Amino acid sequence: MSAVRSKITTIEVLRNEPLRKHTSWRVGGPADLFYAPAAVADLRRILAELPPGTPVHWLGLGSNLLVRDGGIRGAVIATGSLERELERLDEHRVRASAGLACMLLAKRCVRWHLGPAAFFAGIPGTIGGALAMNAGAFGGETWTHVESVTTIDRGGEVRERPRADFEIGYRTVRGPANEWFLAGTFRFEHDEMSSMDAIKSLLARRNAAQPLGVPSCGSVFRNPPGDFAGRLIEQAGLKGLRRGGAMVSDKHANFILNVDNATAADIEALIVEVRAAVERATGVQLEPEVRVVGEPLETAGGER
Ligand SMILES: Cc1cc2nc3c(=O)[nH]c(=O)nc-3n(C[C@H](O)[C@H](O)[C@H](O)COP(=O)(O)OP(=O)(O)OC[C@H]3O[C@@H](n4cnc5c(N)ncnc54)[C@H](O)[C@@H]3O)c2cc1C
Repeated sequence: MSAVRSKITTIEVLRNEPLRKHTSWRVGGPADLFYAPAAVADLRRILAELPPGTPVHWLGLGSNLLVRDGGIRGAVIATGSLERELERLDEHRVRASAGLACMLLAKRCVRWHLGPAAFFAGIPGTIGGALAMNAGAFGGETWTHVESVTTIDRGGEVRERPRADFEIGYRTVRGPANEWFLAGTFRFEHDEMSSMDAIKSLLARRNAAQPLGVPSCGSVFRNPPGDFAGRLIEQAGLKGLRRGGAMVSDKHANFILNVDNATAADIEALIVEVRAAVERATGVQLEPEVRVVGEPLETAGGER
């Protein structure tokens, strides 16, 4: 089925939009309804006008999402096209909107001599995705710096919420149900030494350790306490293991790569297999870091 463009009132909606176009794994079936609003006012109207029973899924840059091959029933809201806001509020505080790439926050903070923020350059997603995941890199974590967030609820109501309204853990964030992030206010320290060279050297370290340039979702599993998922997967002898077009990376065992037109089912089967094999070999149960959403093809009514 091909994607169809139409408008609900004046807001553009894509029907049956293939989500493989919007995920870093380059897999994923169609979304029934796909919105890429340009303004928060449009987003509020979309949420208010969607029938209350319609499920709503949020999408940043799709760099931590495995969307199954049958796609997503309901509406997908992509934040990447929302108006981007990156403002220095005062000596220590910066406000960044959800659709902004984390890399931009890192670069601007360097220019403002605020830190530690260079680690955001290692997260290839949006601010909204980083807030939802408590994304972290090179020892830094998103919520360490969050002072407050702006959210929107299913009815389109916008709120400012303090950090205290959220329970934060390693790659987990629990907050009020059915609210999503529109922006975050971050607090950093004055850092005279911050420089673009710091970002460049962090990225060089990452490039040396990770198989970039082949579609992936970064680390598939969370690191268990005191250990590394990649080390356990390597110890279980799983580097290079393949299912269909999906393969456990030879370079970094916690990466599953789409090496040859993989389906989401190939990737999911490999995730299940790696998890079982690591448990057999080491006794450790790995928990996925990637979010798996949508329906497999069988329940979605066959080939689309
Ligand atoms: C090569 C590579 C390297 C990576 N390295 C790292 C790393 O070092 N550290 C790390 O933490 N992650 C890493 N990741 C994973 C990923 O970049 C992060 O999890 C990132 O925060 C996801 O952001 P996103 O915008 O792509 O979110 P998406 O993948 O689009 O969404 C992820 C989750 O966040 C939700 N979400 C998105 N936007 C919002 C919003 N505005 N409000 C509420 N919920 C929202 C989605 O519904 C979904 O559940 C890597 C990924 C790749 C491909």
